[in-house]
Amino acid sequence: MASRKSNKTSVGRRVNALVAGLELSKASRDDLVQVAEQVCVLGRDAVKHLARSTLRPGPSRREKVASLLACLDGKWAMWALEQLREVAASRRLSAMERVWLSVTVRRMAERLGIAAGGGQGDGERVPESGAVTADPTDLLLWRDEVDALDSATQQQVVATLLASGDPTFLPFLEAALSLGNPRLDAAVAEGLAHFATHDALPLVRGLVRHADPQVRKHARATLVALARNGVGTHDLFVAATEAPNAATCAFACEPDAVGAAAVLFAGPCGIDLVQYAMVLIDPIEVGVAETWGECDLTEDELQECMAHLADESGEPLTPMDLDTARALVAAAEAFTRAQGRDLPAEHFAWRRLIGPAPNNTKLPIVFGPHCSECGRRMHRRDVTRGGRVAGDVALCARCAEQPRKCAVCGRELHVLFDHCELRRGAHDDQVECVCMACSRLTPRRQ
Ligand SMILES: [Zn+2]
Ligand SMILES: [Zn+2]
Repeated sequence: MASRKSNKTSVGRRVNALVAGLELSKASRDDLVQVAEQVCVLGRDAVKHLARSTLRPGPSRREKVASLLACLDGKWAMWALEQLREVAASRRLSAMERVWLSVTVRRMAERLGIAAGGGQGDGERVPESGAVTADPTDLLLWRDEVDALDSATQQQVVATLLASGDPTFLPFLEAALSLGNPRLDAAVAEGLAHFATHDALPLVRGLVRHADPQVRKHARATLVALARNGVGTHDLFVAATEAPNAATCAFACEPDAVGAAAVLFAGPCGIDLVQYAMVLIDPIEVGVAETWGECDLTEDELQECMAHLADESGEPLTPMDLDTARALVAAAEAFTRAQGRDLPAEHFAWRRLIGPAPNNTKLPIVFGPHCSECGRRMHRRDVTRGGRVAGDVALCARCAEQPRKCAVCGRELHVLFDHCELRRGAHDDQVECVCMACSRLTPRRQ
């Protein structure tokens, strides 16, 4: 037993030395194959040791191990895959480790010509190991890990995902883009050329409009490459089609006194479970003010969450037409960008659930409203000083100070102090004020 153990240790050392001696930047494909063969000659324990060390940190170590594993075939590949599955099951892996394992397994599967994690064919299949899910929680965790890395390692992590050309990793590339790092943006803009799927188009679409000219240049070249890879890019700017796992229903709170709205999207999440995303919209200055959500909930848990959210805001969440809700969020995003602001860091992770916005949907609120009477652009300070926004009608703080009369009963009203409803008046530059008693009796003018 002891001698077997010490033998294993010495095999491990020899494998480590082979990996350490490899200079990835200078190694040709033949060099890699040669080193991989040297590992195979050492036997099963050596191959297993190589696979087991796949998550061990060190300068470009993971990349070297993955490159060597990708050279294996036959029984050696199966030994390695078996070991990778054990690694995946051995402990709780971080999101980054799971993505890395998945990249490694997929590179091996590609060489072996079999489906990763799938049951293709009779005998040959790659064991499920380190399967990545692109659920929002994982994406946010992965992004936080990448954010904490030094710049060179960040580049390497992203480069590996890009080199895979594997659509599974597109959500992670989207997560990398959400870091707002121009170097990573440029790398993604260039590297998406390795992909051959329509699913890459939404990312390229954002990148050809990037603020950095270098990123835009890469993105345009990538479009040409994608077309060469057989991806029809002519409909690049046409609204995206329905995404899998997109929301199936939406709810919203009535806009509050400052016109801010909360929109909740709910949709499936795996089998029998649901997820939701909540988007807080400030139509006056910010656009998308905050986004958060949860996955892996049961229906009952979702109902509980919604009741809790409604309790907190004091407004019930009522069903909203899904297209309207999507259009509302899309308009809020556009407004945020137009103000030169960044979307909340978490927003991207829930974008898939929110789903694509339809064209030409009438919005229930106005973004960047102007005072309906004096025409001045409304600001947040207007609503904190008594101004009001109600649907497509707005009153700035100064106009709200004017004494008014109820348009129905003639009672004197003050917008600042009296509970009253604002309506568009007979003339476009007039706002009608209706006291609450009359408001219940006379329906809103359409
Ligand atoms: Zn005004
Ligand atoms: Zn009245």
